[in-house]
Amino acid sequence: MKQDYEYIVLGLGGFGSAAAYWLARRAGTEVLGLEQFELGHVRGESQDHSRIIRLSYHATHYVELAKHAFAAWAELERDSGEQLVLRTGGLDLGPRVSAIPLSSYADSMDAAGVRYERLDAGEIMRRWPQWRLTDNIHGLFQEQSGIAMAARGNAAHVRMAREHGATLLDRTPVESIRHLNGEVEVVAGGAAYRGRRLVIAAGAWSNRALEQLEIRLPLRVTKEQVTYFASPRLADFQPDRFPIWIWMDEPCFYGFPAFGEPGPKVGQDAGGQEVTADTRTFDVDQPARDRVLRFLERYLPSALGPVIYTKTCLYTLTPDRDFVIDTVPGRPEIAVAIGGGHGFKFASLVGRILSELAIDGRTARDLSPFRLARPIMQLENPPTNYMV
Ligand SMILES: Cc1cc2nc3c(=O)[nH]c(=O)nc-3n(C[C@H](O)[C@H](O)[C@H](O)COP(=O)(O)OP(=O)(O)OC[C@H]3O[C@@H](n4cnc5c(N)ncnc54)[C@H](O)[C@@H]3O)c2cc1C
Repeated sequence: MKQDYEYIVLGLGGFGSAAAYWLARRAGTEVLGLEQFELGHVRGESQDHSRIIRLSYHATHYVELAKHAFAAWAELERDSGEQLVLRTGGLDLGPRVSAIPLSSYADSMDAAGVRYERLDAGEIMRRWPQWRLTDNIHGLFQEQSGIAMAARGNAAHVRMAREHGATLLDRTPVESIRHLNGEVEVVAGGAAYRGRRLVIAAGAWSNRALEQLEIRLPLRVTKEQVTYFASPRLADFQPDRFPIWIWMDEPCFYGFPAFGEPGPKVGQDAGGQEVTADTRTFDVDQPARDRVLRFLERYLPSALGPVIYTKTCLYTLTPDRDFVIDTVPGRPEIAVAIGGGHGFKFASLVGRILSELAIDGRTARDLSPFRLARPIMQLENPPTNYMV
């Protein structure tokens, strides 16, 4: 088997499979992807039917990035012949006085020229009578938002990377990374591979990979979960009748219409316990599920029904929850991406950016908020802010 490549990708989850795809579009057989588990495994962050994709964000640079994210998925849809994004519209709602003010979302969409509607509680309930709200609730509706079909998107990246010539190996953990005359040698599954450039997309295992480069980032890995409910009003929760939504307060909840399972999906954002990727369990966090149940009883009662199942998943949180998308300081041949627990919507775009960093050494996207060595990433015990 070939052992010298131009480009090596470590980790083939959401970001890594996208990077392999975008690299392979330009470099074909010069791309090697290495994944420690089986492709499509459920131990990481990217594998479920759905992830929210939205233009509505608390900062303008994310709104701008989200425009390009939609474009990257659309390009993959054209190339693969598969639908990967489903538009449902997106509702951000919550108390007028809240821990996550809607004004920052409205302001950043205004600055980025994105259209949206401001809705009061009465108008929200008129459009979606599934909600039971009091007068102090208000919302923003942005029609382009919807579902990024996560598992299907990952599979499309993998399939199309291979069609463009990439070699993707599963059950092949990278055990070491060595720097060799401006190139990189990785040892994986007992074999050594050399590459001119390396992309690290290791999710919750990022610090283990970066350790090889003597870098340790202040990341927190948490075990999060989502629950599918067999609502007795299933017709009211079809994607053409009910948008994706985010409850903008602390705790922050979010949900989806029925997609992939016969019932709506609901979760709490960043409500999970700190774990490590290796010692985490797949057990349901019952108190966290109870918080979701109480929220639904109060505000969205018709979504409730028997639990279909609860699925656990990891967040890899940076202290400010901004991504890392950067080359390693002093090592331009190595690029890194970390998603901060809200990255999937950007996965294809992040893959494209990583491919540009690897092939061209630059990208047209503004990566300054995502620098690996930004001041907060240098602190051992940084303050945290998880508002997204
Ligand atoms: C419950 C939940 C809900 C979410 N909801 C949303 C949402 O609605 N919208 C949104 O945009 N985002 C959402 N996210 C966040 C988003 O899913 C993640 O940011 C994104 O999937 C991160 O992808 P990744 O490639 O970094 O990580 P992963 O998909 O985990 O990929 C990392 C991969 O690297 C592999 N790996 C690690 N080390 C090695 C090694 N040494 N050798 C080989 N392989 C290795 C791992 O096995 C893994 O496959 C959610 C996340 C969770 C958990």
